[in-house]
Order: sequence, then C-alpha cells, then structure tokens
Amino acid sequence: MKEMLIQSIKNLFSKPETVLYPAEPSPPPPGYRGLIVYEESLCIFCTKCELVCPPGAIRFTYTDDGKKKFHYNPYLCIYCGECVRACPKPGCLTQVEETAPPETSPPDWDSLEREAEESKKRFLASRKKKKG
Ligand code: SF4
Ligand code: SF4
Repeated sequence: MKEMLIQSIKNLFSKPETVLYPAEPSPPPPGYRGLIVYEESLCIFCTKCELVCPPGAIRFTYTDDGKKKFHYNPYLCIYCGECVRACPKPGCLTQVEETAPPETSPPDWDSLEREAEESKKRFLASRKKKKG
C-alpha cells in the first residue's frame, strides 16, 4: 500500500509516457522505415529496384530512344527497403521516416503500369529493328 502511494505521487509529477496524438505527432519508433526518396543524378538506370519491389511500386517508362524514367507509388509501397538494398549506387535511393500523406489525388498507377510495359516493348522492338 505504501509503495503504491509513493508510485502514485511520483506519477503525478513525472512526464507522461503517452503522446497527445493527434495534437502532437507520434514519434517514430527506432528503425522505423518510410517513404523512398530517389536521386536521379546518381541513378545508372539498371532497374534492379523495379525488379525486387514486391508490390510493383517502382516502374520505369521508356522513351523510344531507350531513356528510362523512374516512377514511384508511395501508396503502393510497403516500406520494405528491398529497393534500397538492391541499388548499387549509394545514396540513389534512401528511405526517410515520413509515410505517404493522406491520399487526396492518387497517381493513376494502372495507366502508368500499362505505359511502362508498352513503352518497354516499343523500345525493344525498335532496337531489334535497328539491329536488323
Ligand atoms: S520500399 Fe519495398 S515496396 Fe517500397 S518501393 Fe522499395 S522495394 Fe518497393
Ligand atoms: S537500382 Fe538504383 S541505380 Fe539502379 S535503377 Fe534503381 S535507383 Fe537507379
């Protein structure tokens, strides 16, 4: 009984363990993984990140002359970090603590995936044609 009383008095003056969420943001736990940030200037366009991404949240579209463009869907990403581990260029992909903002205008990912497939096929066909 005496210990309980002492603990109760201590608790009255100690800092609360809880956070006043949503008034205060909840601090991320140690090792928390969030959004992927891409640095195009470091990219060698090897597409390893696209190949290892479990949900297909990274896709490359191709121009007819073979230039690739990186696309990332933060709402599909499961924050697993596989792309960061697979990337051969340090700093090209990094994982930050933030998660995706509320989904107000989601990307039209179905169209983008179709374009990624079709643009790749177009590029490969034109390369084959050039080789004769
Ligand atoms: S963190 Fe995982 S799910 Fe997100 S883009 Fe990278 S590989 Fe894909
Ligand atoms: S794995 Fe890294 S270097 Fe390769 S395409 Fe992806 S981001 Fe670029």
